[in-house]
Amino acid sequence: MYSPRKKCQILFNISILQLLGIFFFAKGFFPYKTSLSGLSTVNELPPLPNGEKTPLEPKFDRLVFMLIDALRSDFVFGKNSGMEFVQSLVAERRAIPYTAIATAPTVTLPRIKALTTGTVPNFLDAILNIAESDTSSSLADQDNWLVQLKNVNNKSISFFGDDTWIKLFPGLFHETDGTTSFFATDTVEVDLNVTRNVIPQLSKPGWDVLIFHYLGLDHVGHSTGPYSNLMVPKQREMDEVVKIIYEIILEQDKKRIREDPNVKPTLFVLCGDHGMNEAGNHGGSSIGEISTVRLPYVFYLSVLMVYRIFGKVCFQFLVAQQNWLKTLKW
Ligand SMILES: [Zn+2]
Repeated sequence: MYSPRKKCQILFNISILQLLGIFFFAKGFFPYKTSLSGLSTVNELPPLPNGEKTPLEPKFDRLVFMLIDALRSDFVFGKNSGMEFVQSLVAERRAIPYTAIATAPTVTLPRIKALTTGTVPNFLDAILNIAESDTSSSLADQDNWLVQLKNVNNKSISFFGDDTWIKLFPGLFHETDGTTSFFATDTVEVDLNVTRNVIPQLSKPGWDVLIFHYLGLDHVGHSTGPYSNLMVPKQREMDEVVKIIYEIILEQDKKRIREDPNVKPTLFVLCGDHGMNEAGNHGGSSIGEISTVRLPYVFYLSVLMVYRIFGKVCFQFLVAQQNWLKTLKW
């Protein structure tokens, strides 16, 4: 038998070991990420393969960025997809399809960070994702394409949809109409609130960048799963929005280029932030949430220009989700 004094010492040692264990677990699971403040400039770009260091000319003047929450790749490319217009654009080689692999945590806030900064977010962001009042995860001080477009290229950016973006980029948007993502049973109004802005915003003269983040498809998944009766009609609704945007910017680009041959066309990016599993939920790293079979995906549609550049390309590229940023820069 141990003496009381010895017992105390053993207990003390065990507690110290437990505290150390918790410390090392927390250090590994929630690593402190140092991010460089300030914006990078063209002078910091590495030289081209031929040794030249000339700044790259932008290939597009305007951008429409449409994000459909939880858009798994089979929702678009699958046989039972309701997105027939998007499929026709791919078949006619007017769009380049990519399948992007998202890393866990597959929830919206870290995925938006990945899509806008090109970095891999950590698990702490998964917790901040559900903290409605959190403002500490702002990207105001981090380099990202929105700040670059606004501050360096003097573009005006307007945002409509999931208000996570408004918290991440306080004061950055010219116009906003945010919707909260926490009424997961609302699969209708949450999207109508975005769609009502589409035609008015596209019809305004002089817009530069429009971002639309649709939540309804994610909410359909959470409420009734990926194979529910609501899923294909929701995909059709999203397909119709893509068609409206595509046709408007196509007409506008034709007119703009007729009036001034030096203007550049519009880039239309359609993407998802993560996928969903067979129960319609997400957050982890199961096949449906991240993998190459049913995928969160990034899909680029570009009016006029992409067809010219990539006329021969019409198959799916597999990319890491955060790498799309480099493609946008080109
Ligand atoms: Zn969700």
